[in-house]
Amino acid sequence: MSEVLLSAKNLTKRFGGLAAVNDVSLNLWRDRIHAVIGPNGAGKSTLTNLLSGDIAPTSGNVTLGGQDVTGWNPERISRAGLGRSYQKTNIFLPFTVWENVRLAAQSRTPHAARWLSLASSVRESNERAEKALELAGLTSRRDSIAGAASHGEQRQLEIAMTLATDPQVLLLDEPLAGMGTAEAERMVQLLLKLKPQHAMMLVEHDMDAVFALADHLTVMVNGQVIASGTPSQVRNDAAVQSAYLGE
Ligand code: ADP
Ligand code: MG
Repeated sequence: MSEVLLSAKNLTKRFGGLAAVNDVSLNLWRDRIHAVIGPNGAGKSTLTNLLSGDIAPTSGNVTLGGQDVTGWNPERISRAGLGRSYQKTNIFLPFTVWENVRLAAQSRTPHAARWLSLASSVRESNERAEKALELAGLTSRRDSIAGAASHGEQRQLEIAMTLATDPQVLLLDEPLAGMGTAEAERMVQLLLKLKPQHAMMLVEHDMDAVFALADHLTVMVNGQVIASGTPSQVRNDAAVQSAYLGE
């Protein structure tokens, strides 16, 4: 049985007079990929930031695993089971692939335990990092300097760093950006592999990938949801065709 892991209700974020996100509601289910598409400026990144706690909503609320997390800071939301990747990279380029993933895994550990360097918490975060590296298909690249890795491998590393906190919910902001066909295909396979264990929100411009991956599709324009449904429902929606797909 699939379950709702994250639920956003009537989320609005105003920047001065601009409603960057305007009354948006959505549910993320385990074992389902929910793609969010829309032109530049539609509010996709702002929506991601609202769900991850990077910014607080003007109104509306977010529940994660049944718990109201509205207004929580990103670290607390991360410990409650939400992992996100950023459109701009979060990678420390001079460090190795392994060091990046291990640092990300440690960020899950509460500050007090980190201070005390508790052996059990170090072991736990190393185990999480090891598992994330393997899931993301980077075990053979563990000792490479991150800055020397290919663009595709760096995006995989972003995913590994996100997985290192052992999240239930994954928010991915344009994981296929700038990728060639082979790299994009590898990322699509990776996301499919992660799907059964996670609820996933995928912000992505690559429509081939979106239609290959998404179980559910939400279309945003000017901060608002103009259509939401299965990919075929959305593809056949007249408002979407005129407003966004330009058909
Ligand atoms: P998308 O990710 O869909 O391209 P964004 O969420 O980045 O869109 O932006 C939505 C709108 O909100 C845009 O008009 C953008 O200029 C505006 N915006 C985003 N962040 C801020 C901010 N921190 N301050 C003011 N305006 C912002
Ligand atoms: Mg964006």
